Amino acid sequence: MKFENLNIITPILKAVYHEGYTMPTPIQEQAIPFILEGKDLVGCAQTGTGKTAAFAIPLLQILYNEKNNEKGPRKIKALILTPTRELASQIGESLAAYGRYTAIKHTVIFGGVSQYPQINAIRSGVDILVATPGRLLDLINHKHIDLRHVKLLVLDEADRMLDMGFLHDVKKIIALLTVTRQTLLFSATMPLEITKLIDTMLSKPVKVEVTPVASTVDTIDQTVYFVDRKDKQNLLVQLLRNQSIDSALVFTRTKHGANRVVRELQKARIPAQAIHGDKSQGARELALKNFKSKRTRVLVATDIASRGIDVHELSCVINFDIPNIPETYVHRIGRTGRAGLGGTAVSFCDIEEKGYLRDIQKLICKKIPVSEAQTYSLSTAGK
Ligand code: AMP
Repeated sequence: MKFENLNIITPILKAVYHEGYTMPTPIQEQAIPFILEGKDLVGCAQTGTGKTAAFAIPLLQILYNEKNNEKGPRKIKALILTPTRELASQIGESLAAYGRYTAIKHTVIFGGVSQYPQINAIRSGVDILVATPGRLLDLINHKHIDLRHVKLLVLDEADRMLDMGFLHDVKKIIALLTVTRQTLLFSATMPLEITKLIDTMLSKPVKVEVTPVASTVDTIDQTVYFVDRKDKQNLLVQLLRNQSIDSALVFTRTKHGANRVVRELQKARIPAQAIHGDKSQGARELALKNFKSKRTRVLVATDIASRGIDVHELSCVINFDIPNIPETYVHRIGRTGRAGLGGTAVSFCDIEEKGYLRDIQKLICKKIPVSEAQTYSLSTAGK
């Protein structure tokens, strides 16, 4: 299958090739035709499957084809709601990339930064608005945003919006939109609240599903090290001394944990930076930029801050702490092995985390191989 077979218009095709994509990913192949037909759609897909392009490309195309009918200043015709600032920025970058030859305008708004540049951008007229729910509601309440002309709504990472407590805000926003809109919802998992939302907010949606959350991307090479908590830091340094790991994303459960790991890595002269909720937006963006440009080799993140981090060719994910929610493991390791590339995921498991590991293995229906290079081991009592 080629992008041409999906009836994508020339300016977008050109942009997609400019990005270096040669073939649509399975979610793109399945979703794009239905979206172009105007159908509501539920996409069960995690990040790394190409889901952003699966909705961004047809959305740009629909708006491009209708552009000539629009009179007067630009109005917001498509709204993309997404849980985190990082994800919002990345969707903005994707729209800019795929829409580079279309003259469709978009802007991105999220909390934690000044509202004024965002308000000015909206005033100057945009076709697509990418937003996190809290900041969007703020600006709506202050009458800076008019959503009456929105006829395309995308709810991205709906399960994560639920986890982060945004569902109420999302419902309030949807209540402001016309009912004749087209709605697309993407979620890696389908908890009950999301299914209910689908039943009430979408009209006869087509369902497309790729790589269900329980089947971790097969191209990722997964290993677990059994190690006492006190030895985890030394093990991390030892692994990172291996120069074949050119970029690693390390996950810790807490912000303090992330700061501590960074401090210790820096002492060992391994360039590392942390990204978590206590860091300012500027510091987070800088850390991400340095990591993407490979200036920093190691990024240490907590789960919420890492959501949506999209780094091409990330070679290794390290779970310094085993997540207590099994789905989180799948989300974390999905940061590597993107769009079919191979990757490595290493997990450090101490005695108290063995139960979490069991739950993960149950979810992914697979036993994660134990590393043979056991320099550290669990104290005998823990075995
Ligand atoms: P996403 O699942 O939207 O986070 O996308 C994951 C990554 O795949 C991003 O880095 C995209 O740039 C990349 N990508 C999306 N579609 C394609 C494609 N058709 N071919 C190659 N890479 C792609």
